[in-house]
Amino acid sequence: MEGVRQIVVVGGGPAGMMAAIKAAESGAEVVLLEKNHLCGRKLAITGKGRCNITNTKPWSEFMTHVHPKNNFVKSAFFNFSNEATIEYFNSIGLETVETQGDRVFPKSMNAFDVVDALVDRMRQVGVKVVADADLLAVCTDGNIFKCTFNDLSSPRFIRTDVVMAKALIIATGGLSYPATGSNGRGYEVAASLGHTVTDCFPSLAALLPRNYDSRLYDVELRNVGLNLFVDHDLIQSEMGEVTFTEDGIEGPLGFRVSRKAIHALENGSSVELVIDLKPAVPINELKERVKREVASFKWEVPMINEARMKKILRRFMPAEMIDPFYAMSKNLTVNTLADRLKDWRFPIAKHAGFRRAVVTAGGVSLDEVISKTMQSRLDKGLFFAGEVLDLDGDTGGYNLQMAFSTGALAGLSAAKYVAAL
Ligand SMILES: Cc1cc2nc3c(=O)[nH]c(=O)nc-3n(C[C@H](O)[C@H](O)[C@H](O)COP(=O)(O)OP(=O)(O)OC[C@H]3O[C@@H](n4cnc5c(N)ncnc54)[C@H](O)[C@@H]3O)c2cc1C
Repeated sequence: MEGVRQIVVVGGGPAGMMAAIKAAESGAEVVLLEKNHLCGRKLAITGKGRCNITNTKPWSEFMTHVHPKNNFVKSAFFNFSNEATIEYFNSIGLETVETQGDRVFPKSMNAFDVVDALVDRMRQVGVKVVADADLLAVCTDGNIFKCTFNDLSSPRFIRTDVVMAKALIIATGGLSYPATGSNGRGYEVAASLGHTVTDCFPSLAALLPRNYDSRLYDVELRNVGLNLFVDHDLIQSEMGEVTFTEDGIEGPLGFRVSRKAIHALENGSSVELVIDLKPAVPINELKERVKREVASFKWEVPMINEARMKKILRRFMPAEMIDPFYAMSKNLTVNTLADRLKDWRFPIAKHAGFRRAVVTAGGVSLDEVISKTMQSRLDKGLFFAGEVLDLDGDTGGYNLQMAFSTGALAGLSAAKYVAAL
């Protein structure tokens, strides 16, 4: 590609597309490189295909769902907030709807509509999208960035090409769900330009119990408590919904504890999840209830065998859970039942890894990026946006909002930067 472009954005995910749009809306000439054939491949599978665009919580609450340094995101958030995001999508023709938990989705509940809205907007504002362009390396003389990429557009051969730019925005995502395009190349490029990349680990990923009973697959538990123990210390307690899948314990609660759990596993600590099946009932009340239920069967306690115990369990849990619960609860008796219901232990062997993680924790160190502009403190003209940064959020629309907020700020700042040259 000939000539020096004003701004090159690498990565056509939500952060890169928003950065490109905001830079182009500010009058800059923008080229976006995307290694896939189409932009927004991960965006298209978000929210189980429905795309939870953002969360309407005020910043004071929103920030508690951002890790590891929520203060870094404050300027980006107030420059392009959750409210601004909704207004913006509405203004470009995407209607939105707010659901339980302050979550916002496209009204159509179709993530592809979000991708289309951004791709259409890029076209309208004149962003030149170069698809099948896999960035390999970047070098700079302090003024111009020379980006070398593989052109993957031909099925028969790969051609290496170069694009030069006055400003560069890296929005290549993290390491999670690599099949969607994010394979960590952005970290390598950032490191080659002198940036520190903090240790990366998967977050919002399933936790696989030791001796996991496959009969639990697809069981969903509502209104349960989940306690995370690391090296036998209670670290986090949550209430809500747990889902058992082939990959392990997940669902909203499993994901909520996964960041700390996975970090602990990576550091070699022991991790245990303890499910309280009756969190709203104090133990003494539950013991009384067990006594009443057992009495209603009119069986002599010593005559309660496995089959009878399973009939009693039916009063306390869904049918599909009875066999695995019984198998895991060694020496279960009517006297220990209440305790076991409130203390169902799952020692964790491992986690599902980046392949199935919703987000990557860790990334380009925030200490080397100016939060008010997203510009590198080390290389002028270099900007970062989205998951490539050492930023991650809980489930609930926080991650996409961070991608949009940091993307919008990086785009605006890069446009101002090139205009001032
Ligand atoms: C299954 C799933 C469901 C999710 N659901 C939600 C949800 O409902 N709400 C929410 O808030 N968050 C959700 N997330 C998280 C959210 O999708 C991410 O946080 C967000 O996509 C990050 O945006 P990004 O633009 O930084 O990175 P990405 O979306 O990963 O985009 C990065 C882009 O850069 C491209 N790229 C990478 N390397 C190169 C290279 N070398 N050259 C050129 N291009 C490159 C990639 O192909 C990709 O298109 C979900 C994630 C997953 C995996």
